[in-house]
This record gives sequence, structure tokens and C-alpha cells, in this order.
Amino acid sequence: MGTRRFTAYSAKHLDELLRRARLDEEERLKVRAVATVLPFRTNAYVVDELIDWTAAPDDPIYRLVFPQADMLPADDVARLAGLLRSGAPAPELQAEANRVRQGLNPHPAGQMDLNVPRIGLDPVPGMQHKYPETVLFFPKQGQTCHAYCTYCFRWAQFVGDADLKFASDDVKQLAEYLKAHPNVTSVLLTGGDPMIMGEPVLKRYIEPLLEIEQLESIRIGTKSLAYWPQRFVSDPDADATLRLFEKVVAAGKNLAFMAHFTHPRELEPDLVATAAERITGTGATIRTQAPVIRSINDYPAAWEVMWRRQLTLGMIPYYMFVERDTGPQDYFAVPLVRAYEVFRDAYAAVSGLCRTVRGPSMSATPGKVCVDGVAEISGQKVFVLHFIQARDPALVGKPFFARYDPNAVWLTDLRPAFADRFPFEQIPQNTRLSA
Ligand SMILES: *Cc1c(COP(=O)(O)O)cnc(C)c1O
Repeated sequence: MGTRRFTAYSAKHLDELLRRARLDEEERLKVRAVATVLPFRTNAYVVDELIDWTAAPDDPIYRLVFPQADMLPADDVARLAGLLRSGAPAPELQAEANRVRQGLNPHPAGQMDLNVPRIGLDPVPGMQHKYPETVLFFPKQGQTCHAYCTYCFRWAQFVGDADLKFASDDVKQLAEYLKAHPNVTSVLLTGGDPMIMGEPVLKRYIEPLLEIEQLESIRIGTKSLAYWPQRFVSDPDADATLRLFEKVVAAGKNLAFMAHFTHPRELEPDLVATAAERITGTGATIRTQAPVIRSINDYPAAWEVMWRRQLTLGMIPYYMFVERDTGPQDYFAVPLVRAYEVFRDAYAAVSGLCRTVRGPSMSATPGKVCVDGVAEISGQKVFVLHFIQARDPALVGKPFFARYDPNAVWLTDLRPAFADRFPFEQIPQNTRLSA
């Protein structure tokens, strides 16, 4: 297993894989119908080492990567399944899938327009500059992953619709932008998954950043440690990748490996421990994050076990997120009050060394909002919240309140308490960091 080369399983392997979960023909057709709308991709490691097939389709790792028949409205699924059953021409199937997709909020939090940085008047593609000190960069060759999570908020980037994609291969433009904005101290390479890129390509993005003096940290957002740890152990470019990481550290930059782990089982294989040891051996740090997802990790023990195991592997727990308002969110949504309880109970059970984690946090348009808890103030039950990050730094770290609502799943469901407006509703509409 350790020496096999990476190969992806895609929608054309779906029917065969679904038989392994003992789905009957009708159920398989429905899942395939969903997979015409939402992207599907996995690999042999996830299928053979992580999924417990005796528990599928209820197994949490199965649910993490395989589409479910009820992820989309039943009438949409029935119509798409009908087209598949009758062998409808591909363009007809595509048109119907596109129509369903459009109804799914493919672009959360103003992703397409609010954060586009500019050089002069020209927008710089493949970048977001939302917080003063941090720039996100989406390398063009990093717009896929070793496997796709069913709950991914960036799923629109993985389907064939060019309008929904944004990425850049122009690292010179990024460097130019950074030189013109000396307040930016952190670059976050994201995607997709930048670690899908081979070392020769990854190097072309990273090396020019080492010349930017003010840059303190380079982060890589990735799920590769969970979905393909071979990337750092036995892949042909594993050693070269580690040398590249060493080079970042030698240049005096912090290399933060932002590892996405959703479920404790992803941390169990020895291969993950070996990969983590090799990565931290370069001087890089590994920080961990994931959203709370209904039916996959929405109970405290999942997080407690993850944080403890991460600590022993030399990783630093970083964020617990609330699932974003995109795609089939209803399907995975956890009420804010439940996300808070899961966080609190797990946090209370671990040592202070794990309590570097923050959350549950919503990455919303005005910034990252943390649910600190539920309190009763002057006889009114309220949510206590604060900004961990904000477009407007003046908002960071100041408590504010919302009326308690047991069904609220996102910031937009909340109403202010003890005030007419939320603090972030007082920012002028045209605030644009990157203008
Ligand atoms: C979370 C996030 C960051 C990084 O924020 P930190 O609090 O520094 O980890 C940067 N940009 C966006 C858009 C984010 O959501």
C-alpha cells in the first residue's frame, strides 16, 4: 500500500464502489444523480484504509466522501436519475445538473467580488485579500484534492463550469502585490489542495515568496495528511518536498501546514504519524482545523480524541469551524448551540496544550465570528459572540450579543440583542481593503 502511486477514483468508478456499500440499483442511480451536480473524487487509500465498509453507508468516512441520495431535493434527484436511467444525451444531463447547481449558493461570503485585490485598477485573479495581514492565493494547478469532502464549501471550483473557478499561475503578480502591500505578513496557499501539486510546481509558487522580506509565514491549507499521507513518505517527490519545506524555514519564514482532519479515524494509520514526523522534522508546524458536520463529527468525543491524538503527533489544534452556507448545507448543518456544546465539552476534557483551538467559528462576510456561549443577561437568553478575525480590525476581540435561537445555523440567522444592529453592520458598505 505504502508504495502505490496516487490514482483518483471518479464518477465513472462510482457504481462499482457503491455496490461495495450494498446499495441496490435504485439507490445507486440516485447517488449517481447527485454526483452529476456535486463533484465526486476519492482514492484507494481512502477506500481501502479509512472507510469501514462493514458499516457503510452509515460509516462516517464513507459519508465524508460519497454523495448521498438525499443531499439534494428529491424531485431534482428523481429527474436526474430518470435521465441517467433512460441514457439521456450528455448535454441534456449536463444542462439539468447545471440548473440544479445554480440553486446551491456556489459562492459564499462574497467570494467572487468582495475580496478581489487590485494592482492599479486591474483585478489580480486567484487572490483574496480579506484581512489586512493575510492574503489567500489559489494556485492554478492546485484546484483539486486527493479526495473530495461531500461538505466542501469550495465545491464549485471542482466542477467543469469555468465561471465558478478562480485561480492563478501568476506568482510574479502575487509577489508584486505583496511588495506593494508591506502590511501583508502571511500568505495562505489554498485551493483545492496545494499538496496535489508535485514538488517542481509547488516550488515555483513558494520560492519567489522567500524573497519577500516582510513575509513572516507561508501557510498551506491541505487535507493531504488525511487523504494521501504517502505524499510525504513514499511518493516519488516526497523527499524533494521536505527539502522545499526546509528551505522555507531556512529563509526565516514560518511554514504552517494547515491540516484538515474531520474524523479521529483519519489520524489512526501509522503512515499519518510517519508523515507528520517528517513534516515537523523540517521545522514546519502543523496546525489542524475542520468544520463540525452533522452525522460525521457532531459529538464531543470526536473532537476530544482528534485533539489528543494531534497533540501526540506534534500538531497544534487551531480552528473548529461551523459549516458554511454553501452547497447542500441543510444536509450537514449543525445548529450553533449544538456546535458550541460540542466544542465546550471537548475543550473541557483536554489538557491546556490542546486548548490552542478556537471555535466554533463562522467564516462569514465580515470576518470570523466565534460562538463563545449562551448566557442569560437581565433575564434575556443570548448568544455571546466575538470576532476572531475581521475585515475591520476594530471589531476583533470585542464581545457582542445575539438573541438566543436554538435553530440558528449561521450568522445570517441571528438577530442582535441589546442593540438595533450588530457591530459589523455599522461598517461603511464600500470598505475595500485591497483598493
Ligand atoms: C481564516 C481565514 C484566514 C486566516 O485567518 P487567521 O485567523 O489568521 O487564521 C485568512 N483569510 C480568510 C478568508 C479566512 O477565512
